[in-house]
Amino acid sequence: MNIENKKVTVIGLGNSGLNAAIALDNIGAFVRVTERADNADVRKNIERLEHRDIEIEIGAHTRGFVQSSELVVVSPGVEDASPPVRWAEELGIPVISEMELGFRLCKGRIIGITGTNGKSTVTALIGEILKEAGFKTVVCGNIGNALCGEIEGITKDHWVVLEVSSFQLERTADFRPHIAVILNITDDHQDRYRSLKRYFDEKMKIFKNQDAGDFLVLNHDAPNLRELTAQKAKPKAKTYFYSRTNEKVSAFIKDAKIICAFHGRQEEICGISDIRIKGGHNHENALASSLVAIIAGARPDSIRDALKRFRGLSHRFETVEIVNGVEFVDDSKSTTVDSTLRALESSAKPVMLIAGGRDKNSDYSAVRDIVRRKVKGLMLIGEAKYRIQEALGELTRVHEAGTLEEAVAESFKLAQDGDMVLLSPMCSSFDMFKDYKHRGEAFREAVREIKNQKSKFKIVESLKRP
Ligand code: ADP
Repeated sequence: MNIENKKVTVIGLGNSGLNAAIALDNIGAFVRVTERADNADVRKNIERLEHRDIEIEIGAHTRGFVQSSELVVVSPGVEDASPPVRWAEELGIPVISEMELGFRLCKGRIIGITGTNGKSTVTALIGEILKEAGFKTVVCGNIGNALCGEIEGITKDHWVVLEVSSFQLERTADFRPHIAVILNITDDHQDRYRSLKRYFDEKMKIFKNQDAGDFLVLNHDAPNLRELTAQKAKPKAKTYFYSRTNEKVSAFIKDAKIICAFHGRQEEICGISDIRIKGGHNHENALASSLVAIIAGARPDSIRDALKRFRGLSHRFETVEIVNGVEFVDDSKSTTVDSTLRALESSAKPVMLIAGGRDKNSDYSAVRDIVRRKVKGLMLIGEAKYRIQEALGELTRVHEAGTLEEAVAESFKLAQDGDMVLLSPMCSSFDMFKDYKHRGEAFREAVREIKNQKSKFKIVESLKRP
């Protein structure tokens, strides 16, 4: 569909909606924006649309605003049940996501990365590698900056490294990355999707429109992804696998080294110990990123240099402090059971685990085995604490705390030299915090508080000594 001169309504005026509206206005569409909320953030975004001929409605949605549109663009947060989406559907108006719009306007080649966990890390890492290789690179999508907001600067020579969430895939039609990556699909968002199958099917859309000239990169260690090529509705793209355990795939680990085998050539990328981001899950991320970079034409030495340098993103299994021999690790971005499983697998120390938050109807029993082996105490916070206690309660000592600060202080009291206090909640943060970053910052602040108290205590202690 040619969008120029079309009447387009954008639903939602957050970051995605704002950038969709600007991109549409730039190409000469007739743009309207409708936003249910009316708050300071919305009003700030309205200021960004001043001097543009865009009609804006805030504080409520009205049917008339959607009625005469030829296309509706939704932000990822807007649900199917939202009234303007239903009105558009009743009226037979096509509804697409901001990412689909971005795709239609994008001149560059897209690398789309999806999965339950590791998307942001792999997106950022591929971006670093391609920049290191000297390629024109834009990193965007679910990682924070909407694709539509980058459109102006993207030429046909750019690689667009795009983090793709299942919510963003929901309203796609033509979306087709040149290289698609699926990292893993485990239990998540069972508050939004009626079944795991529905969530899985949404993720599959990332390769649905690909053809034989495109590439699909899959994790061979995930049985539900490994089986994809054996299904009737096979991917049409050239499909390549990576694995931590199988050496017969295109990127693998042999003699503690990452090897890529592509187009008949075997390239040694680097030693596992060269990879700066730690933990088995990050080895998977490094394998996926190396394979994508090789497919995109990067040289092994650029990949190696980027893997050596890349520190990972904040709030993902990040050591923030060691106090009295107790290591404090911020994994606030762990909002799923599987990511907490990976964090526990990555720890060689006994763990005081701080978990809980807003429940997504997840199945916490998946961590039972590792909790039994590694968790010396479970400190529960937030709305999910009762469900987590039910699932894991008899496996270890369980404590509960009213606030995260209290949870950190109590965990420190119970921990010993050589232990880890790990914030890895398995839940979203919205019951107590603005987002996972806010939760991670609160954790760090509580750790700083403990450190300060400790240094005060030390002074008193040394004064007593003769
Ligand atoms: P996403 O963008 O998919 O949420 P992130 O890179 O932000 O992924 O990481 C989210 C959480 O998942 C963090 O706790 C991180 O340590 C963990 N994680 C990162 N990569 C993986 C992976 N490949 N498999 C499982 N968990 C992972």
